[in-house]
Amino acid sequence: MNKEIPELYGSMIFGDKVMRSKLPKDMYKALRKTIENGTHLELDVANSVAVAMKEWAVENGATHYTHWFQPMTGFTAEKHDSFIAPAGEGEVIMDFSGKELVKGEPDASSFPSGGLRATFEARGYTAWDPTSPAFIKDKTLYIPTAFCSYSGEALDKKTPLLRSMEALSKEAVKVLHLLGNDTVTRVSTTIGPEQEYFLVDKDLYKKRKDLIFCGRTLFGAPAPKGQEMEDHYFGALKPKVSAYMHDLDVELWKLGIPAKTKHNEVAPAQHELAPVFDTANVAVDHNQLTMEIMKKVAEKHNMVCLLHEKPFQGINGSGKHNNWSLVTNEGVNLLNPGRTPAKNLPFLVFLMAVIKAVDDYADLMRISAASAGNDHRLGGNEAPPAIVSIFLGDELTAVLKSIENDSHMGKQEAVQIDIGAHVLPHFVKDNTDRNRTSPFAFTGNKFEFRMLGSSASVATPNIVLNTAVAEALSQFYKELEGTKPEDMEQAVHALLKNAIEKHKKIIFNGNGYSEEWVEEAKKRGLYNLVSTPDCLPRFIADKNVELFTRHHIFTKEEIFSRYEILLENYTKTVLIEARTLDEMLTKDFLPAVNAYAGETAKNAASKKAFMPGLSMDSEEALVSGLTKTYAALTDGLKELKALIEKAVSTGDTLKAAQICHLELLGKMDELAEAANKAEALIPDTMLPYPTYDQLLFSL
Ligand code: ADP
Ligand code: MG
Repeated sequence: MNKEIPELYGSMIFGDKVMRSKLPKDMYKALRKTIENGTHLELDVANSVAVAMKEWAVENGATHYTHWFQPMTGFTAEKHDSFIAPAGEGEVIMDFSGKELVKGEPDASSFPSGGLRATFEARGYTAWDPTSPAFIKDKTLYIPTAFCSYSGEALDKKTPLLRSMEALSKEAVKVLHLLGNDTVTRVSTTIGPEQEYFLVDKDLYKKRKDLIFCGRTLFGAPAPKGQEMEDHYFGALKPKVSAYMHDLDVELWKLGIPAKTKHNEVAPAQHELAPVFDTANVAVDHNQLTMEIMKKVAEKHNMVCLLHEKPFQGINGSGKHNNWSLVTNEGVNLLNPGRTPAKNLPFLVFLMAVIKAVDDYADLMRISAASAGNDHRLGGNEAPPAIVSIFLGDELTAVLKSIENDSHMGKQEAVQIDIGAHVLPHFVKDNTDRNRTSPFAFTGNKFEFRMLGSSASVATPNIVLNTAVAEALSQFYKELEGTKPEDMEQAVHALLKNAIEKHKKIIFNGNGYSEEWVEEAKKRGLYNLVSTPDCLPRFIADKNVELFTRHHIFTKEEIFSRYEILLENYTKTVLIEARTLDEMLTKDFLPAVNAYAGETAKNAASKKAFMPGLSMDSEEALVSGLTKTYAALTDGLKELKALIEKAVSTGDTLKAAQICHLELLGKMDELAEAANKAEALIPDTMLPYPTYDQLLFSL
C-alpha cells in the first residue's frame, strides 16, 4: 500500500470530491440537493452525472457498469453491461447515458416474489438511488439501485427502507416543530452495524459438505477446549488473522466504508468488525458490501469467512448489533440526553417514542431478526432471548419514574469515575452501564438492537424500527397538536406520564438470560416467540398490516408476499440442511463407523488367535457400541427422509415450516448427538472430514 490512507480512502467511490471536480457547478448543486433533501432529479442532471461517472469509472479501469440491488434473497444482485457502443467499422466508443444510469430492466421473474409474480409482469425495474454513492469493484462501476416490479411493488429491501426513512423524517420534523424548533427540515436515521464472523482454513472447509452447502457444521464432537478459558475475547490477534484484517480494512476503505474497530470475539476463530456509523441507507449498502468483501479477502488468504449465525455447536454463534439513532439536518443527535436528561424535552419525547414503538411492535422487531440460522442463537446463553425488551439503565429509568410519579428528580451531576490510580485520567461516567443480555439497549446516545443474526441484512430491523417510531411520533403529534407554546411543557409532561404507565412493561434492566425473566415477561404479557415459524404469522396480523400500509412502507400485497418468502426461505434452509446431513452421514460418516468397527473386530480376532486367553472386553464393547450407533443412525436416517418428504408434500408454507421446526430439526439434533458420540471414538485419520479441533484451532 503506497498511497496514504486519507488519499486511498474512498478512492473507488463516486463521492463528493469527484462529483465536485467532474460536474458543472449547477449540475453538482442539483445533485447535492437530491442527495440531501430527497428532491426529484431531472433528466438533464442525470445525463450530466452519467457522463461524469463514466469518465471517472473509465479512468479508474472500469469497462462495465451494473445496477446493484438487494432482492429478497438477502444477497445482492448485479448484471453487468459494458460501456462499449459501436462507432463505425471495428470501432467502439465508451458510452453511458442518463437513462442507463437512472433505470435498468433486469428480468424479475427468477427472484423471490412470494406470489406477487402472479399479479405483475416478469419485468422488473431498477432505479438509481443517488443517496448511496456509486463505486468501482473488479473493473465494474456499481450503481446502487432500488428494485421494483412493473406496477411499482417493491421487490427488494432498499425501497421499503427508503420509504421508512421518509416516514420517520416527516413525523419527527412535525414533532420538533411543535416543540419549538422551527428550523429543522429533515431527520435521518443513523446506523452503525457491528459484524461478527468466523474464519476457518480453506482446505479444511472444502472437506466439509455441511460448511459448503449450509454454512454451518451439522454435527461434530466438541474440541477439548472451547471458549471456557475466555482467552479469545479481545485476545492478541494471530498473524494470519491480523494480516487478513488489515487487507480487509484497506479494501473497505477504498470503497469509503469507514471500518473502525476490529477484535477477537468470545468463541475461538470468531472476530468482529465495526464501522463508524452512517445514514441508514448508506450503512445498509455498506454492510452488504462488507459481508461480501469479508468473504472475498478471506479467499485470498486461503481462509473462508463464515457469516452463519451458528457455524459450530457448543460455542457462541455470530450476531450483528444494529446501533441506531436519529440526527437532524442541523446535526443534533435526538437521542443524546445531554447533561440533564430530565430537562431535555425533545430527548424525552423521542426516547419515549422509541419505547412506545418497541412495545407496540415488539412482534415485528422479533420478526426482523428471524431466520433459520438465528433460531439457533436467540434464547441460548450467548444472545438475547427471543423476548423483546428494552434496557434503559438506572439513570434514565429514574428519570422516567420521577415523571410517572410527579416526583422531583434530585440534582443530576455528571459522575466522575475514579479508578484509584492517580496517573490515569478521570473520566465522566456514561449514563448507562453495560448490559449485554438485553435485546434492545440504550447505550448513551443511541439504541443498540442486538437480536440480529450475523448474515442478515440490516435493512429489515431498520424498516420496522423507523416505521414503528414514525407511528409513535405521529400519535404523539396528534396528542400535542394545538397546544399553546406556553402550555407545551405541561402537555408533554402529561403525555410522557401516560406513555410511561402504558409502556413500562417493556423496560427490563435485569439479566435477560435468566429463567426468571421468561416467567416475569409472561406475567407482563410480552411476546416470547421462540422460533421463526412461531413469529412469522404475526407479520400479517391486522395491527402490523395497518402500520405498514398507513405509512406507505408496504402494500398489503407486499406484506403477504414477504411473509411467504420468509416462510419458504426458512423451510428451504432446513431442508437443505437435512439433505446435507443425510448425505454426509450416509456417504461419509457411516462408512467410517463401519470401517473402524470392522478394523477393531479384525484386530481383536487376530489378537485372540495369537493369545486365546486374552480378554477382548474393551474391543467387544467398542465394536458393539459402534455397531449399535451404526444401526441407530441408519434407522434415524430413514425417519429423517420421511420427515423431509412430509414437509415437502404438505403444500402449505406455514405447515411445512412448522414441520421443519417441530419435527425435522429435532430429528437432526438426535442424529447429530449420536454421530458426535461415535466420532469421539474414531481416530481422526479414519474420519472423512476435519473435526472441530482442526477447524477451530488451525489458524
Ligand atoms: P460496543 O461493542 O461497545 O457496542 P462498538 O464501538 O463496537 O461498541 O460499536 C458501536 C457502534 O455504534 C459503532 O459502529 C458506532 O459507529 C455506532 N454508533 C455510535 N454512535 C452512533 C449513532 N449516533 N447512531 C448510530 N450508530 C452509532
Ligand atoms: Mg455492541
